[in-house]
Amino acid sequence: MYKTQCSACNKEVEVPFKPDGKRPVFCKDCLKEYRRQQAKLQEDLKETEDKKTETENKKTDQEQKKDSPSLKELINQAMKEKRDD
Ligand SMILES: [Zn+2]
Repeated sequence: MYKTQCSACNKEVEVPFKPDGKRPVFCKDCLKEYRRQQAKLQEDLKETEDKKTETENKKTDQEQKKDSPSLKELINQAMKEKRDD
């Protein structure tokens, strides 16, 4: 066991791995809170991701409408084909 300090409350904690100083180490109480917050963060992230996808889908719809030929163009096309006959 290695002795180190909880990154959140500075309480002395013992961990089974050698603290590398990069990853935060938490005591039991803070770890619980940390995991809870991380889960919430990931939920928020997922929500944001969903909203982003929704917006992108809407954007694609609009772009497709813009790119699709207008009624006038369709009529012109039909008239041209008729003339070619
Ligand atoms: Zn703590």
